[in-house]
Amino acid sequence: MAWILLFLMTLPAAAEPRFLLNRADVARIKAQASAQPVVQRLIQRAENWPAAHVENYGLKEWALPAEGAGWSHAYVCPVHGARLKQTRGQNLCPVDGKDYHGWPVDNVVYMQRNGDNAAAVRDLGLAYVLTGRAEFAAKARRIVNAYTVLYPTLPIHDNNNKLNTQSGARVMSQTLSEASWLVPLVFGYDLVRDTMTAEERIGFERSVLKNAAVILTGNNRGKSNWQSWHNCALLAIGLTVGDQDLVRAALDGPGGFKFQMRESITPDGPWFEGSWGYHFFSVEPLMLSIEMAKRAGLALPEAAAFRKMLDAPLRAVFPDGTLPNFNDSGLVKLAAYAKHYSIGYRMFGDSRYVPLARQASSDLETVLWGADALPEVAPVAAVSDLMPDAGLATLRVRENDHVIAVKFGPHGGGHGHFDKLTINSYWNGAQQAADPGTQAYAAPTHATWDKMTIAHNTVSVDEKPQAAATGKLLEWIALPSAAAIRVSAGDAYPGVELERTLVHTPWYTLDLFDVKAADGKQHHFDWMYHNYGQIFGDLRWDQAIGLSRLNGYQHLSHPAANRGDADWSEIIRQQQLGTVVHMIGSPESIVIAGTGLGPDLQVPVPFLMARRQAVSTRFSALYEPMTQGGYVLQFSSPAPNEFLVNGAGMNDRIHVEPGRFSVLHQVFGKPVQLFLSGIAETELLKRSQTTPIQVDWSADGATVDLFMEGTLEGAVRITAPAAKLIRLNGKKIECRANGPYRWASLPNLGNLEPCQ
Ligand SMILES: [Zn+2]
Ligand SMILES: [Zn+2]
Repeated sequence: MAWILLFLMTLPAAAEPRFLLNRADVARIKAQASAQPVVQRLIQRAENWPAAHVENYGLKEWALPAEGAGWSHAYVCPVHGARLKQTRGQNLCPVDGKDYHGWPVDNVVYMQRNGDNAAAVRDLGLAYVLTGRAEFAAKARRIVNAYTVLYPTLPIHDNNNKLNTQSGARVMSQTLSEASWLVPLVFGYDLVRDTMTAEERIGFERSVLKNAAVILTGNNRGKSNWQSWHNCALLAIGLTVGDQDLVRAALDGPGGFKFQMRESITPDGPWFEGSWGYHFFSVEPLMLSIEMAKRAGLALPEAAAFRKMLDAPLRAVFPDGTLPNFNDSGLVKLAAYAKHYSIGYRMFGDSRYVPLARQASSDLETVLWGADALPEVAPVAAVSDLMPDAGLATLRVRENDHVIAVKFGPHGGGHGHFDKLTINSYWNGAQQAADPGTQAYAAPTHATWDKMTIAHNTVSVDEKPQAAATGKLLEWIALPSAAAIRVSAGDAYPGVELERTLVHTPWYTLDLFDVKAADGKQHHFDWMYHNYGQIFGDLRWDQAIGLSRLNGYQHLSHPAANRGDADWSEIIRQQQLGTVVHMIGSPESIVIAGTGLGPDLQVPVPFLMARRQAVSTRFSALYEPMTQGGYVLQFSSPAPNEFLVNGAGMNDRIHVEPGRFSVLHQVFGKPVQLFLSGIAETELLKRSQTTPIQVDWSADGATVDLFMEGTLEGAVRITAPAAKLIRLNGKKIECRANGPYRWASLPNLGNLEPCQ
């Protein structure tokens, strides 16, 4: 009798959830005070279903869409190419407010409705297990049972409404979307299935889950975000219906979870498609797969690679929490994915995730799988970062928020853009050097602009787009206040070498773009720079010029030219601040300004183009983050590889050649900062090493700070007549004086007076 009582007492109040949430999770969530606002909103959503759904989609009453859904990327205005907005059954163009209907537009709304229905099953199921209120389970059953009836009647159709193709599905128009629809649906079903009759359960599992599994298994997409979603849905179905073959296929099969961990995550952490949008789109199913495996008791040591996926965006992020919108990606805000960092903190206990995890407290997923308590952590300043395999470099300085992101990695598959060596930049709280990111894939400008070379901040040759190529890292130097990179574009233009060198400092970024045709013939080289804002400078853009109507050039509006033979500067402003572009003139050069397309088709983005006809040439530019007025008065090149930057009281000398690099920043004739690499000796610093080093002289000359990796070797002589203190990476080191010189790390310092 006692054991029966005990057994009854341990029975859950409601159903027994299993694969994404178990009894312990339910108890934890109920006991967790911080989770209650999220739970309250969840209950509200459950109470408001289906009224909210009916109102949102302008329906008379709740019903499943009777037809198969369409492709989300087809939801664009046929006239303006802009994404439509669904408002109570209307599909409105954001430009002129026109309401569109018919295939494919209405079918995209079916996609949204199916997605909402699946999410409702999950929410209703959760509300049910957390409250025990039977009406929530009844509502979930209504949706589940409706799909049981509908699912087998829908034809397998694809994005183009072709029947029985491999990528096609039933409820949705592609297996990818079928999978992401299935995951919350199966999750919710798991939460309420104990309240269903055996007949209902068998019906749903047979007509929806097993049927859907056949469709997903028939479209193995290998290395892809698609297959990661397929795996997640197959794992959910396999665990729910007890099909070990599906579970094995999802985890161990060709293209399975373990394969994705090995093949699709680059050794640096970014998803192989080189798009932060797809990176996080893939994080989701991988994370859910890990949570499922954990609850099913399946060991998954391969999931360790997932941690790098969470780390990588933290290394590449701009100061405002946005990520460069390279390849097919929107402007991704890291905060939108904060929930993954809460879940990641629970998985890996990495304190770097805490600041983001803290922003995720109101997300449902945080309550389900995230951390319930977060420690206090001190903020960590971002430093320059290189991901050589992913081909992303982020150039930062500790003095300000000017950041340059350089892209030189693998093409990125079908979502890659032909933009090798492009840069995006950030300054004063906003992105500056721009990338169009992507429009909806059915928008006409997606193929004709977003992917084109001329839409990016790199060089186009002969008005043609680059080929898909993998660039090469040639050099990388990172110091606290400077970073330098040299990269080549690989085979982006067969027969033409493209090499870019960027030197990032607290005051400006030097950009040297070298191009050279192997055939010895003249080519058209278009150096391109797009920056948000408005052109607001001194040049007179008064010469009309015709440009190609192909390869993206047709989207360059109002082009006007100016001579480019003399050195020139031009300002692109966002409000009061912006970027000044300085370029050294070249006899064969003209400069063209105009506007191109940006991420928002209704906001044109200005461009500056330097066009040259040459066999080989170097575009030497300087990007100056501008405050009140620009302070760079002169940017010149007195000799090959030598550059002078002069401003009010400032005289900088830069030397850049492969393997050797120096920047000396002087204010009113006094050295303030020196960056050296590949060079042992200058008049200000004499040493035996050639490793990268930074020297900072304090304003009064009393302190010299050295920054470098590793240890100082041999004698180091610094010209610093007033110096009393030398520090290496912030720590005081031995200092001896000898006239205007200060010696550090001298093997026999005893003969010289200590600095004082
Ligand atoms: Zn329109
Ligand atoms: Zn792009």
